[in-house]
Amino acid sequence: MSNNKGLLIVYTGASGVGKGTIMKELLAKNPNLRLSVSATTRAPREGEVDGREYYFVSHERFDELIAEDGFLEHAEYVGNKYGTPKEPVFRMLDEGLDVILEIEVKGFLQVKKACPDCVTIFIAPPSFEELQARLRGRGTESEEVISERLKTAEQELQSQSLFDHVVVNDDLDRAVEEVLSIIKDRKNNG
Ligand code: 5GP
Repeated sequence: MSNNKGLLIVYTGASGVGKGTIMKELLAKNPNLRLSVSATTRAPREGEVDGREYYFVSHERFDELIAEDGFLEHAEYVGNKYGTPKEPVFRMLDEGLDVILEIEVKGFLQVKKACPDCVTIFIAPPSFEELQARLRGRGTESEEVISERLKTAEQELQSQSLFDHVVVNDDLDRAVEEVLSIIKDRKNNG
């Protein structure tokens, strides 16, 4: 990746770890940063808007996008499929924008292989108990989905060491500053 191109950032963390809250702050504080909007077969949660949080698509459409080689990466997560549309990511990077992919671990492994210059960040909870409490407290999923997500989270936590950086979300402002400085250092030092 040449210097006038943007930086590709992979941002991963277990469900309920507070990724979304940190992300909002990152986007507000770094005007050169863009979030890639993924496609998913999951149903929208209340308040989610098609084209903003996700492109909500059918399983058939998702499979068509795979066949068209439209994804930079894609993976299945707790019964649904998620994928990063390739074209907008490369377009934004060409424009010099830094692009952040909020994806799970299987997608991270694919992106790391395809784009070894990317910077990878894992957002970790202060403890597994804290994660459990947050996921239940959010109240957006059924108990069955929550326990599936917790099982997946336990596995994901074991992949932390594969990432360039692990940021513990013990305090929102601190975690945001840490991620911003990781991005800044990487931009300055290549
Ligand atoms: P949620 O259903 O909570 O929005 O997302 C579930 C998981 O899928 C999260 O870990 C989220 O980061 C991940 N995810 C969202 N979009 C993508 C994507 O495009 N690709 C992959 N591999 N994972 C994604």
